[in-house]
Amino acid sequence: MSAQALLSVRGLSINYGHVNAVRGIDLDLAAGEITALVGANGAGKTTTLMALSGLVKKAAGAVHFDGQDISAMAPHRIVASGLVQVAEGRATLTTLTVRENLDLGAYTRRDGATARARDVDRIYSLFPRLAERATQMAGSLSGGEQQMLAIGRALMAKPRLLLLDEPSMGLAPLIVQDIFRTLKRINAEGLTIFLVEQNVKQALKLAHRAYVVESGEVVLQGRGAELLGDPRVQAAYLGH
Ligand code: ATP
Repeated sequence: MSAQALLSVRGLSINYGHVNAVRGIDLDLAAGEITALVGANGAGKTTTLMALSGLVKKAAGAVHFDGQDISAMAPHRIVASGLVQVAEGRATLTTLTVRENLDLGAYTRRDGATARARDVDRIYSLFPRLAERATQMAGSLSGGEQQMLAIGRALMAKPRLLLLDEPSMGLAPLIVQDIFRTLKRINAEGLTIFLVEQNVKQALKLAHRAYVVESGEVVLQGRGAELLGDPRVQAAYLGH
């Protein structure tokens, strides 16, 4: 692939017992872009994402991040190298405050308190709701606010590539728009993003490039806008 691929995946296969959940997937994520992986329930999206984070065993395949082979790297080292997955929204630590959750996101960093405080301020400017609720327990937040906190916590780890697994899940359309608008802004500020989504329409609108997966295989790929207009995508996912 082109020299600027920040992450490349070749021949990724994952099995759960006799279930071939992912079957020989290739992906290239260009630096500075938003790439989406879309498809129906059970297509293998979450499994693919977990493999990139080192959380499931690969049956085959290689993953290179910024030129380094991370295929066999331990999950905490993958995070420390800059590949950070946003925890599921509901997985924020509910008995800690918003601010404590953000501080926890910085646990792999070795830079000082000043740099961390500056990043907390940046996250508060991205998500003013979090600033208003800084001293509230995360468990008292709405679903959308918890999703914002999960993204904020991942940003505190100083990612070079941010992975998200269905950030729109269970959220009202207006909140989804709000979160996607913020992802666009974070990307415009330079962060490369990999987004897994069942909300195909919103994901293709946002993404520069996208892959469509069915039964563990990539069946279509292209620019997000192109795929939105593709009759096969429209028939299968957009109800046209
Ligand atoms: P969803 O949006 O529902 O999470 P997905 O596209 O992310 O769907 P995966 O969760 O990756 O799909 O699942 C891919 C396939 O692997 C499915 O057939 C699923 O039933 C199967 N699977 C996922 N996790 C496991 C597991 N822990 N044990 C056995 N089979 C699993």
